[in-house]
Amino acid sequence: MLDLERDNVKLRKPIFAGNWKMHKNILESVATAIDLKARVSGISDREIVVCPVFTSLKFVYDVLANSNVKVGAQDIFWEEKGAFTGEISPSQIKDTGCAYVIIGHSERRQFFHETNDTVGKKVLAALKAGLTPIVCVGELLAERESGKAFAVNEKQLKEGLSCLSKEQAKLIVIAYEPVWAIGTGKVATPAQAEEVHIYIRKTAAVMFGQDVADGIRILYGGSVKPENISDLMRQKNIDGALVGGASLEADSFIKIIKY
Ligand code: PEP
Repeated sequence: MLDLERDNVKLRKPIFAGNWKMHKNILESVATAIDLKARVSGISDREIVVCPVFTSLKFVYDVLANSNVKVGAQDIFWEEKGAFTGEISPSQIKDTGCAYVIIGHSERRQFFHETNDTVGKKVLAALKAGLTPIVCVGELLAERESGKAFAVNEKQLKEGLSCLSKEQAKLIVIAYEPVWAIGTGKVATPAQAEEVHIYIRKTAAVMFGQDVADGIRILYGGSVKPENISDLMRQKNIDGALVGGASLEADSFIKIIKY
């Protein structure tokens, strides 16, 4: 008989999303996408996403169309069109072939003044355009060290996502990314990550009901590598990973996907 715990069968379909940040030109992005596509074909029990820079989106989509690898953007603006020089609207992102969009990444919060309020506007706009938002939350090292990790994540969720209806909340993905673990090589232990994932799910249950919360995929992000993914994925509430550095090379990203 199947033992869900023993056999590590995930209740929710895992997602592995690669955040390429501001790396790779068009040729490099396309080359990685071609390599990845060939080596993950046939995988259907998990979702695979790559998030290149805006200028590569359409090119990467063209090589991945009709494959099991989806494309995501790293940000969007919330307005549909107008005098917003330098911004890109949700439907323009959708037009490139994207299915996903990362919203509220800590680097955007830190360097580009993203707030919980703008996160909420972007999540609503993404959903309206038919994009799946991957909403990032996570505490700073000082916040963790002063015992505020749960409170910080709860505030980000409540302020960023209370604009959503239950039906809309069912469509989102959340990524817990402790800021102190991003790009630092310092991964949260599986137990540290799991306790925040449980807390995030509890918060979502208060906001949207237990049934909705039980269905939301919560990804872990922060120095995920082929060496640490299996232990992380063994946790009941970790439903995949948002991967930065280790997603840049097809080899390491594939090892993570096939953990
Ligand atoms: C990220 O960019 O979201 C991330 C988690 O980066 P890294 O995997 O490099 O820590």
